[in-house]
Amino acid sequence: MKQIPLNTGDRFGKLTVVTLDHTDLYIHPTAQTKQTIEYYLCICDCGRTRIVCKDHLKKGKTRSCGCLVHAKRPNLKRHA
Ligand SMILES: [Zn+2]
Repeated sequence: MKQIPLNTGDRFGKLTVVTLDHTDLYIHPTAQTKQTIEYYLCICDCGRTRIVCKDHLKKGKTRSCGCLVHAKRPNLKRHA
């Protein structure tokens, strides 16, 4: 499979890609296949930075520095 690098400025949820931080070589324990995993430095809308695995960005597993999970949704709590 081809590895398509992410571009600076690509947005995933609240995260904006800044630069490639580092790569890791992952060897599947049973299949013995090698895979390069790219980690990107991203900046969140709240201003914090986070290093995120490219796969997580692409698949939508990580869409913020963590602030999205804790963010309260005022629209859900509404008195009738
Ligand atoms: Zn954030």
